[in-house]
Amino acid sequence: MSLDSSIAEENRELRQRVSILHHKAEQNEQLLKAFFEAELELLSCTTLAELLNYLLHLFRHKFLLCSISLMLFDPEDTVQELLDGSERFNHFEGLTLLRTPHKLHQLFPEVTPYCGEVNPSLLEVCFPSQPSIESCALLPLVREGCLIGSLCLGSSDPQRYNRLLRYDYVSHLASVVAVCIENAISRETLQRLSSIDSLTRSLNRRAFSQQLLREIKRCSRTAEPMACVLLDIDHFKPVNDTHGHLSGDKILRDMAQLLKENLRETDSIARYGGEEFAVLLPGCPQAEAIKVTENLRKVIEDTPFTGHLGTAIQITASIGVTICEKHHTELGDVSMLTESLIQTADQALYVGKRNGRNQVRFQALALIYPSS
Ligand code: GH3
Ligand code: MG
Ligand code: MG
Repeated sequence: MSLDSSIAEENRELRQRVSILHHKAEQNEQLLKAFFEAELELLSCTTLAELLNYLLHLFRHKFLLCSISLMLFDPEDTVQELLDGSERFNHFEGLTLLRTPHKLHQLFPEVTPYCGEVNPSLLEVCFPSQPSIESCALLPLVREGCLIGSLCLGSSDPQRYNRLLRYDYVSHLASVVAVCIENAISRETLQRLSSIDSLTRSLNRRAFSQQLLREIKRCSRTAEPMACVLLDIDHFKPVNDTHGHLSGDKILRDMAQLLKENLRETDSIARYGGEEFAVLLPGCPQAEAIKVTENLRKVIEDTPFTGHLGTAIQITASIGVTICEKHHTELGDVSMLTESLIQTADQALYVGKRNGRNQVRFQALALIYPSS
């Protein structure tokens, strides 16, 4: 081979190598860009449900993965309860909430990521019902030195995740995911604590007032009537006096549960005071509101309530109902209307109390204009 042709050959090889390196650099740049984008998208999720939806669905599409699973250590059912309130809970396929951390410690004895092939036991723990997965990245989610969960990325490509892969990108992403999950849980727990009554787990009075404003606005927008209901347990003081405060508390909890079970998901249920509950029934005209509340009264009367030691306790309730219609929302300001709704339902309730209790009373909304 002449000198010229050997130089030409060398040149060709070098050009080929540069081209391969260039291609790899481009691929890395794209990957880096996708990771940056994912990081920003994770940080911009505003609720836990949105975050989980992003991780389990959108993230999978973005990185062309076969499957993603997320395990979270949830010893006190905090996440479970936050998600119970979200109608999307059933769609969080791939999410497992763990009461104990054993599975996580088994998966990450050294608390370091694993990238590589999938053996049958990994497949069973991380990707049940996903037999097509050939390689995976298992990322421990760690906060303040504690293992709080794992993010498992599964691919049908056996070469996608291998032991030679550098962990930096995925490890960094796992740290961001852990921070985002922890923040979302703390934020929503705080919100929940400020709007939920701790005994009955229904809305508290403050949250009810906010919900009432929202429903009035909806009534004004959609022209659908909304029923405002106050329910007060009859002779509750003697229940406490006879069976003790613990039994009284249990009855309040059971009553809240009964209301939840017998009303629609879109209805709002609040503990308005001691043994008094407030309910909003959006899209409910007068006749239907009376039917619903009469049914509720009957269910309460027929329910075998029990005290904390199992003693049977007969419970009845009196119920006051009023209706907000679109034309009411045009007559004055919203705060006047909220006050009028509560006062009118309260007046109806006390007519029921005066007339022997255990009954539903309706009263047409009387607007209370501030005295000038
Ligand atoms: P009425 O039929 O007129 O409503 O009679 P009542 O006895 O239900 O009404 P009253 O207002 O006289 O008493 C309400 C009772 O509710 C008194 C109070 O001890 C009880 N109560 C209020 N909050 C709680 C609570 O959180 N737990 C328990 N166990 N009892 C409560
Ligand atoms: Mg009472
Ligand atoms: Mg009362």
